[in-house]
Amino acid sequence: MTEAVAGGAGANWAGNIVFSADRVHRPATLDELRALVAGSPRVRALGSGHSFNRIADTDGALVSLAGLPRTVDVDTAAGTVRVAGGVRYAELARTVHEQGLALHTMASLPHISVAGSVATGTHGSGDTSGSLATAVRAVEMVTADGDSVTWEREKDGGRFAGSVVALGALGVVTSLTLDLVPAFDVRQFVRTGLPLAVLEEHFDAVTSAAYSVSLFTDWSAPGFGQVWLKHRAGPASDPAGPDFPWGAPATGPMHPVPGMPAAHCTEQQGVPGPWHARLPHFRAEFTPSNGEELQSEYLVPRHHALAALREVAALGPVMAPVLQVCEVRTVAADGLWLSPAEGRDTVALHFTWVKDTASVVPVIARLEAALEDLDARPHWGKVFTTAPAELRGRYPRMADFLELRESLDPAGKFTNSFLRRLLYED
Ligand SMILES: Cc1cc2nc3c(=O)[nH]c(=O)nc-3n(C[C@H](O)[C@H](O)[C@H](O)COP(=O)(O)OP(=O)(O)OC[C@H]3O[C@@H](n4cnc5c(N)ncnc54)[C@H](O)[C@@H]3O)c2cc1C
Repeated sequence: MTEAVAGGAGANWAGNIVFSADRVHRPATLDELRALVAGSPRVRALGSGHSFNRIADTDGALVSLAGLPRTVDVDTAAGTVRVAGGVRYAELARTVHEQGLALHTMASLPHISVAGSVATGTHGSGDTSGSLATAVRAVEMVTADGDSVTWEREKDGGRFAGSVVALGALGVVTSLTLDLVPAFDVRQFVRTGLPLAVLEEHFDAVTSAAYSVSLFTDWSAPGFGQVWLKHRAGPASDPAGPDFPWGAPATGPMHPVPGMPAAHCTEQQGVPGPWHARLPHFRAEFTPSNGEELQSEYLVPRHHALAALREVAALGPVMAPVLQVCEVRTVAADGLWLSPAEGRDTVALHFTWVKDTASVVPVIARLEAALEDLDARPHWGKVFTTAPAELRGRYPRMADFLELRESLDPAGKFTNSFLRRLLYED
């Protein structure tokens, strides 16, 4: 039976968005999901609700896949996993690791759903690591008329490239098949005090100093208070950590936001551990049910990174009243049409703000103006004010995506007012 949880669909994780739907539908079987989709004029899938804007909202049927079987089928011979749409990364990672395999990357928080994260182009960090969506080799989805379709990377070309980072606009993703790699250990080190001038001089060396590198600052000064180095640990790796002459080792565990408890963060100080317990910044066993923050993120082509960092540094005093922390990460280029890293190696400038939309939005507008000439693509799941036509102009394959969307869902069943504005208005 489809269980419809009435009494309002509730709010997102941050609590800044109250969903418009009056209930969340939780089908228990694929057939129930297909009937719900076929019979509803408007449908949106809800993942774990970790986005900060109205991307998951709908005035129609909001559907969660949490009641469907939580399939995680690892194929050790093929090195792949088929994972159900409602599963979260922490759960997926545990099962995959038990089979001696790994995901190539993880986001900062492991509590987010796989389908929802892939749909928005969510990423971790690493010069050679594509976003989470780049692991996808097949997408299974229920389309507007209730049909189930499967598109594969090796067979379906453009249709596949358009359907992975698809913002929930093509259908409800019921399963994804992901590429895996052999399990690996990681040792996490934190270095402190990297001046912006030093980063400018050694940018490529800094971002490639470890498998995954994150730089943190509150921009109170032009530099980075913390550099997190997630270093693949092999038999030959140096226990002192990667060669990093530009910052002093931290003397104890640290949280990226000064003053916050490091106990919530994944283990540091070079203690080796499995990939899924080191690549995220936050521990899976610490479950934040909501967050006192808003987030924005802008992904710029790597060749604009230094120009972008100088613009952001100059806005330090403007951002100070509302900024908790800024994180700089790198993402490898991919070919997924709506991926913010499509067609270019990317540097991602992330901002954790205080939870005060009215104070934060004008600062975001200043930031976007400063980055205007740097081809910045906002993270689809975070707060941004970029004009829709400008945003579309930053995606060379946008017209192909719109054509695919219109062919699959001419009535716009899977759109909402947030997407209609972004995809079709000025
Ligand atoms: C604390 C925190 C840390 C974060 N860290 C990172 C980070 O490190 N890197 C990063 O890039 N982002 C990060 N994010 C952003 C987050 O990864 C994205 O907002 C992501 O989309 C959240 O996934 P979700 O399942 O909560 O999606 P939701 O917010 O529930 O939905 C997002 C979109 O996915 C669609 N969707 C969900 N499920 C399906 C489905 N089954 N089929 C089709 N469409 C679907 C929805 O319709 C919607 O359009 C973070 C967010 C938080 C709150």
